[in-house]
Amino acid sequence: MSGDTEMGGTGGPRVPLQEKILDEYARLGPDDEFTFDCHPGVSCFNCCCSDVNIFLSPYDVLRLKQRLGLTSTQFLARHALVPIQKDMKTPVVLLKMRDDEKKTCPFLGENGCQVYSDRPWPCRMFPLGLAAQRDTPDGWRGERFYFLLEEDACKGFEEPRKWSVRDWLENQGIDAYDDWGEAYKELTLHEFFDNGGVLAPEKLEMFFTACYDLDKFRAFVFESTLLQRFDVDEDFVHEMSFDDEALLRFAFLWLRFSLFGEPTMRPRPEVLEAFQGSVDKKRVFGRTRAGGIVEAAP
Ligand code: SF4
Ligand code: SF4
Repeated sequence: MSGDTEMGGTGGPRVPLQEKILDEYARLGPDDEFTFDCHPGVSCFNCCCSDVNIFLSPYDVLRLKQRLGLTSTQFLARHALVPIQKDMKTPVVLLKMRDDEKKTCPFLGENGCQVYSDRPWPCRMFPLGLAAQRDTPDGWRGERFYFLLEEDACKGFEEPRKWSVRDWLENQGIDAYDDWGEAYKELTLHEFFDNGGVLAPEKLEMFFTACYDLDKFRAFVFESTLLQRFDVDEDFVHEMSFDDEALLRFAFLWLRFSLFGEPTMRPRPEVLEAFQGSVDKKRVFGRTRAGGIVEAAP
C-alpha cells in the first residue's frame, strides 16, 4: 500500500506461514528492491481491508485511540476483540471488523483508510513481512529479514514503482512502531515463558491493562500507593500524568519488575527497610519453628 497520501493505502496482515517462509521465501535486506504501489487507481483498491486478522500491539492501540479521540477503555470496547484462551501466555488484541457481510475494517472509507497516518503496524508493512530470529547466545534480538507477501489478488505488484526495503519502511513510518515492538518483545518473549512460566490470571489481566488500557493503568498508577512505594523521577511522573507514550514506557518497566522480578523499578528505602524487617521477623520465627528455640522478634 502506498504511503504517499492519507487516503492512499489499504492492506492488512497476513498470517505468517512460518516454516514455508523460512524455507522458501527470498530473504530481503534493506537494499533489496521490489516493485509495488497501492493507490485509488488500482483495480483492487480497498479490497484487502476486509475479513483480515489484524493483531494490535500496545503502540497500535495508543495511536488509534488518540487518533479517534477515545479513551483506551472506549477504544477496546468498540474496536477490539480480546480472545481469552486457557493456555494463553500474553495478551492478544485483534482489531474488530464490522458486522457486515464482508467483515470490513471499521476504518475503511470510500477513499481508503481513514486512519492512514495512525494505521496499525501490519497495515504499514504490507506487502513486506518481517521474520526475526530471537534465540541467539547474545540475547533475544537475532537475525531479521524481510520477505514479500505476493498475493494474486493484489494488483499493486503490477505497478511499476520501484522501492528498496529501506525506502519502503521509511516511507511507511515503521521506525517508531519497530522501536515499541522491540520493547514489547522484552515482555512477550521473556525467558520466563521459555522456561515454562505461566502467569496467573490476575497477572495476565495486569499485563493486558498496563499495555493496552492505558487510561485505566494511569488511574491505577496515580490513585494507588504505587508511586509512594517506588522511587520514580518526578519529571517522569509528571510526564506520564498526561503523556501516553511516557506512561507506556513506565508500564513496560513496571511489568518487567512485577511479572518477572527484573530490577527495572527501585523501591523507596523506607519500603525496603520495612520489607527487610518483615523478612527478618520471618527468619526469626522460622528458626523458632524449625529449631524450637524461642527468640524475640527484633
Ligand atoms: S486500518 Fe486502514 S489500512 Fe488497516 S485494514 Fe483498516 S482500513 Fe485498511
Ligand atoms: S490488494 Fe494490494 S494494491 Fe489492492 S488495495 Fe490491497 S494492498 Fe493495495
